[in-house]
Amino acid sequence: MRMVLLGAPGSGKGTQADLLKDKYACAHISTGDIFRRNLLAKTELGVKAGEFMNRGELVPDEIVIGMVKDRLRESDATGFLMDGFPRTIPQAEAFGVMLEELKTPLDAVVLLDIDEEILVGRLTNRRTCRACGKIWNLLSMKGDNLSPGCPECGGELYQRDDDAELVIRNRLKVYNDQTSPLVSWYAKTGKLYTIEASASPDETLKKIQAALG
Ligand code: ADP
Ligand code: ZN
Repeated sequence: MRMVLLGAPGSGKGTQADLLKDKYACAHISTGDIFRRNLLAKTELGVKAGEFMNRGELVPDEIVIGMVKDRLRESDATGFLMDGFPRTIPQAEAFGVMLEELKTPLDAVVLLDIDEEILVGRLTNRRTCRACGKIWNLLSMKGDNLSPGCPECGGELYQRDDDAELVIRNRLKVYNDQTSPLVSWYAKTGKLYTIEASASPDETLKKIQAALG
């Protein structure tokens, strides 16, 4: 399976990719995760990317494109779930060339479609486990605020720097300006599946699987 997950920040790309990668036994490639790992390790790539991420801006295309190109050459990446890439038309063009060279065409582009106010609510309440990396939402953790550890492993939950409300508004603007044009771009390929994504992760997963058949 070679799939692109498309959708605004907070639409659930990372959560769905986590669920889908087990079903389809393929690599989950999250450009955001790769940047955050590099930022944590203070690599040159991480420090550069961090400047843009903390403002809610996109990392420049040439940096992202080079990084994805390297990742796709790794042996586990013949099947993949792309989470967070492409995010601009130039990225989509470069991605198309990469896949052509590798002779690995895309099977599907899944758009997670959701109302913008729901997104802001989700993002300001989003927490990530420092230990296992799982994504949680305080809204669906039901009054467990006295012991706000990871329900799965007990690890510390933290809020990403770029999930502060002002930064979120900027990320949504960037999505609308630069990424949403990819919807009609991919619609032309006949491989676009639009999924309404405001319900629970499990329900959204079922809708994706039903659409893909
Ligand atoms: P979200 O989808 O919730 O915004 P991500 O983890 O996908 O979160 O991305 C976090 C940040 O990493 C983005 O706001 C952006 O700065 C940077 N980033 C990730 N992927 C890309 C990309 N394909 N192009 C440019 N910047 C990216
Ligand atoms: Zn955990």
